[in-house]
Amino acid sequence: MNTYSRLPVAFVKGEGCRLWDEQGCEYIDFTSGIAVTNLGHAHPKVTAALHEQAGMLLHTSNLYQIPLQEQVAAKLAELSGLPKAFFCNSGAEANEAAIKLARKYSQLRFGPHKHEILTLHDSFHGRTLATVTATCKPKFQEGFAPLMPGFAYVQKDLAAIEQAIGEATCAVLVEPVQGEGGVLPLGAEFLQGLRELCDAKGILLIFDEVQTGIGRTGKMFGFQTYGVLPDIVTLAKGLGNGVPVGAMLAKEEVAAAFTPGSHGSTFGGNPLAMAAAQAVLEAIEEEDLLSNAVQMGEELNGRLQRLADDYSFLLEARGQGLLQGLVLDRPVAPLVSKCLEYGLLVLSAGEHTLRLLPPLNVTSADLHLAIKMLEKAVAEEATSA
Ligand code: PMP
Repeated sequence: MNTYSRLPVAFVKGEGCRLWDEQGCEYIDFTSGIAVTNLGHAHPKVTAALHEQAGMLLHTSNLYQIPLQEQVAAKLAELSGLPKAFFCNSGAEANEAAIKLARKYSQLRFGPHKHEILTLHDSFHGRTLATVTATCKPKFQEGFAPLMPGFAYVQKDLAAIEQAIGEATCAVLVEPVQGEGGVLPLGAEFLQGLRELCDAKGILLIFDEVQTGIGRTGKMFGFQTYGVLPDIVTLAKGLGNGVPVGAMLAKEEVAAAFTPGSHGSTFGGNPLAMAAAQAVLEAIEEEDLLSNAVQMGEELNGRLQRLADDYSFLLEARGQGLLQGLVLDRPVAPLVSKCLEYGLLVLSAGEHTLRLLPPLNVTSADLHLAIKMLEKAVAEEATSA
C-alpha cells in the first residue's frame, strides 16, 4: 500500500553510520533509522547476541517465564529508577499500554470518571487509533473519525495545562523533546513545573521517550536530562537497535494496577528482542556512549548554530544531545533531497525543521564529513529560493 512517501534509494548493507545502496554507493546515515540504530548499523555486540539467541530459542510465550525479559526489566529499573516493565513491539504499542495503565490505575483509585489524557500541540505518539488521537497534529488524524474519546489537547504552557485539568483528567502525556513536532526541547523549567502540577492535581505524568530514550539526549533517558521522574515512561526505537521492541516502565504503585490478564502481547519481550535490548544497554555502558553523545551533540549543535548564523533562511539550531534540529523559514523537503544527492541521510521533523540523528558512537571525523555535505546542500538551497 502506498502509505509512505519513499525516497528513490534502497539500502542493502550498513556498518556504523555508513549505508550502501544497491549500486554500491556509500551514504552517511544521520537518521539512525529515525532514532533506532543508536549504536550504528551491524554493531558487533548486538549481531553476536542475535546470532546466539536465534540459534537457541526464538519464542515461547508470555505464558511462561522468560529469564532474559526479567534481566532486561531489572537493568531498565536500575537505570531509570522505575521498577516495573511491560514489553511490547513498537512505540505506538508502548503508548497504548501507558494509556491503558494510566486509566486503570486512576479508575481503581478515584473511580470510573477518570479517563482523560492531556497531550500537547504538535505532539506525536503513534499511528494506532488511540495514539493517533493522542497525537495533536490534524494531518495524521484526517479521515479517521471517529477518533478515541477521552483525549484533550493543550498548549505548551503550564497555566493552560492547569486550566485544562478537570475532574476526568487522569494523566498528562508529553515527549520531553518533541521529535516529529520539530525537535523542540520542552526544557527543564517546563517539565519540572509539569511534575509539580501533576502532583498537586493528583494526576499521572507520562513521558513518551520513544524517540528521546536510550541515550539519544545524552542521558539514558531524556527525563534524566531534566531532573524529572515521570510516573510512566515509554520506550521503543533505540532499545533494540533495529529489532522491533517496545517497553513501558512505571512506578511500583502505578504498575500494581495491572494484574494477570490486564494487558498482553504475543511477541512482547520475546527472547530475540530481549537479547538485542540487553546487548544495547550493555554496549552503551561499556563504550561510554552517553559521554560521546553529549560531546558530539555539543559539537553538532555548534556547527548547526554557525550555519544558522551564516544563512538567514536558517532560523534556529536546537536540540538535546544527538537529537538536533535546524529550523528553516521554508519547507525542508528540498534540503533533505539535496543532502541525499550528496550522500547524507537526514530527516524532516514537521514541515520546516531538518532533523539530524547520528548514532551515539558517531566520531568527530564523520560529524565533520556530514557537516561538509550539509553545508553544500544548504549553500545550494540558499541560491534556489
Ligand atoms: N512516540 C514518538 C515520540 C515517536 O517519535 C514515534 C515514532 N516516530 C512513536 C511514538 C511511534 O513509534 P512506532 O512507529 O514504533 O509505533
